[in-house]
Amino acid sequence: MTRTIPGARTALDRLGALPMLPIVAGQTPIHEMPRLRTALGGGPTLLIKRDDAIPFGFGGNKVRKLAYVGADALASGADTLITTGGVQSNHARVTAAVAATLGMRCVLIANGTRPERPTANALLDALLGAEVRYVASREERNAALEAAADQARRDGRVPVTIPLGASTPLGAMGYVRAVGEMLAQVAPPDVIVHAGSSGGTQAGLVAGCAIHGIETRVIGVSPDDPATSIATRIRDIIVGMGPLLGVDGAVLAAARPIDVNDAFIGDGYGVPSDASREALQLAARHEAVFVDNTYTAKALAALMAAVRTGQIPAAATVLFWHTGGQVGIFA
Ligand SMILES: *Cc1c(COP(=O)(O)O)cnc(C)c1O
Repeated sequence: MTRTIPGARTALDRLGALPMLPIVAGQTPIHEMPRLRTALGGGPTLLIKRDDAIPFGFGGNKVRKLAYVGADALASGADTLITTGGVQSNHARVTAAVAATLGMRCVLIANGTRPERPTANALLDALLGAEVRYVASREERNAALEAAADQARRDGRVPVTIPLGASTPLGAMGYVRAVGEMLAQVAPPDVIVHAGSSGGTQAGLVAGCAIHGIETRVIGVSPDDPATSIATRIRDIIVGMGPLLGVDGAVLAAARPIDVNDAFIGDGYGVPSDASREALQLAARHEAVFVDNTYTAKALAALMAAVRTGQIPAAATVLFWHTGGQVGIFA
């Protein structure tokens, strides 16, 4: 049984017509994780979608979002991309990679302290030629972003500022498109579990399920904020997607549940928990899959708990959507 929204056909046509940078080459693999399943004592069929294996810029979910946001910046005549995130932001690294391949400048506003010796994402930012400016707290990020844009304009440049995580309605289109990609590979899973924070990934997946008329339950696992605030962000992003897709955004946002799990944050953003350490170890030792402490290990820990407690029944198929972040292992 399928249940689509009014105008779904138009929405898919509009999506297909949106300009996109060619940085999400082909499909990312989907495969089973039979040894992890056995390690969990059986239960549902476990699939994994490997967005960690996107070749461009060390991969991850930000590549799908920036494929659209970067194409839009290019079309607008921009010569400078400015964005923000933590010192080890995956989004900042992919933005720097996009700027490098488009021949643009990149300015990153990082909250945190300048590392004495940059590692992992910070090291890649430097190799990619990005200019990094540091602010002390998350609260100072947006003002610094605007100040950097003003300065670039005074210098005669054409900057585009990209919000945190590229989680704009346009960026979220990357994951609407990804739902179609998944459906060309496998039957709709019963459940998708993924890490989500700024909301663009989940907004795209949820809207994508509605547009494709599948009943897959999408569970986003928070690494930082309360479920209610992330769910509000997701709803706002989906409403904003309406005009881009030629459908009623409010109808689209109400078409499927917005399900965020904030029970696996532990001691906070980037701080490993016992559950995330176990998930990281089990995925590596049984499947040679690497998850990161900040995002994907906590999401996988949530999936493992749902399997072990029978919340996801044994007859179900659950797909862990790996959103990347593996560079962070080297921080
Ligand atoms: C940014 C990021 C997320 C969160 O995705 P959002 O679209 O911002 O909600 C999840 N996992 C990884 C590895 C990320 O880098």
